[in-house]
Amino acid sequence: MALYLVSTPIGNLEDITLRALNVLKSVDLIACEDTRHTRRLLDHFGIQKPTVSYHEHNEQARTEELVQRLLEGKSVAIVSDAGTPGISDPAYRIVLAAIERGITIVPIPGAAAVIAGLIASGLPTDSFLFVGFLPSKKMARRARLEELKLERATLVLYEAPHRIRETLADALEVFGDRQASLARELTKLHEQFIRGTLSQLKEHFDATQPRGEMTLVIAGNAKDNLAPIETGFISSQVERLMLGGLNRNDAIKQAAKSRGLSKRDAYQLMLEEKPTYEDDEC
Ligand code: SAM
Repeated sequence: MALYLVSTPIGNLEDITLRALNVLKSVDLIACEDTRHTRRLLDHFGIQKPTVSYHEHNEQARTEELVQRLLEGKSVAIVSDAGTPGISDPAYRIVLAAIERGITIVPIPGAAAVIAGLIASGLPTDSFLFVGFLPSKKMARRARLEELKLERATLVLYEAPHRIRETLADALEVFGDRQASLARELTKLHEQFIRGTLSQLKEHFDATQPRGEMTLVIAGNAKDNLAPIETGFISSQVERLMLGGLNRNDAIKQAAKSRGLSKRDAYQLMLEEKPTYEDDEC
């Protein structure tokens, strides 16, 4: 008898692990957020197992039922619609109930948007805080951002496309213009990273209709976290390349190439952004 917490892909089906497939094939019952959604995943991998729904609306009642099955000696897997169960998805309640009854919990690690979005952000990964979803009501959202304002660790947030403009505007007002990275459609065909300052991300979505699944990563409140990343300040990228041993001319050439710019345009951009960068430094 064991409760398996099985991570499933967040887009690309190849991200499921061999262990996850073996567990799903071997358990007696699979509890999932949306049985139709999970059925498609199981069909894709040729797995035929009984499924039962386990979502935020029936979590409490279902927890008791599933614990009973576990106590009868059955093995149960929990999967969410995407990614790792328990990460902004149901699982916590049943994990707690199972621990209290002495049931073995077996985590099956795998995809989670928080990790994929963080590691590709270009922001410090040594210490991060997973914020999950901010409250949807403006007052509560602002209050939560205020609480996070002094946090030094990199912040990782989940956000829905219809709320990203408000979130970026509020984060910009509360935190100031920090570096950030927005990961869109991770592991999917149209995966995209929008990196820059919060105001640059805001400008991007003022001009582009937000679509798809989004993970927002924001630099923490640490002076060295303000170091610009690739699509941030080109002048700083050039400085870093020079520190790495390139002469100024080659550094500008390389920075221009990494952004798909001509050397002339890169130079112009450096002149335009330099005053802002110096302001940020003091
Ligand atoms: N359990 C999931 C995990 O492990 O990442 C998260 C589930 S939560 C209900 C869904 C949110 O995760 C989305 O609104 C989005 O913010 C983020 N997310 C999920 N898949 C994503 C993807 N492919 N690209 C970017 N963000 C994603």
